[in-house]
Amino acid sequence: MLDEQTRQALEQRLLDEIAGTEQKILDLKKATAPIAPDKGLGRLTRMDAIQDKAVKEAALNQSRETLHHLEMALTKINAPTFGTCIICHQPIPIERILLLPQSTKCVTCAK
Ligand SMILES: [Zn+2]
Repeated sequence: MLDEQTRQALEQRLLDEIAGTEQKILDLKKATAPIAPDKGLGRLTRMDAIQDKAVKEAALNQSRETLHHLEMALTKINAPTFGTCIICHQPIPIERILLLPQSTKCVTCAK
């Protein structure tokens, strides 16, 4: 079980990450809006624009997945086993939880 101070710090960091990821998703949604055929693209050719859109769509999907994992982590934060490695039962560092909120193992055991 996480001690109260760690739990609160982690909760705050998760909320920050969620807010940041939500903002990123909004920006990427705008960036992946359909490309109008007659849109002036400046130096970008239409092919470049399509390729750029594909890259941003991949980033958007990635961000949505991250958001899902962060939200899941937030709902599980009060569970007795949260933040503890399922193998060695040592605490998982906060930085790792933020980077990989779905991780249930510490770095050593995940290898
Ligand atoms: Zn472990």
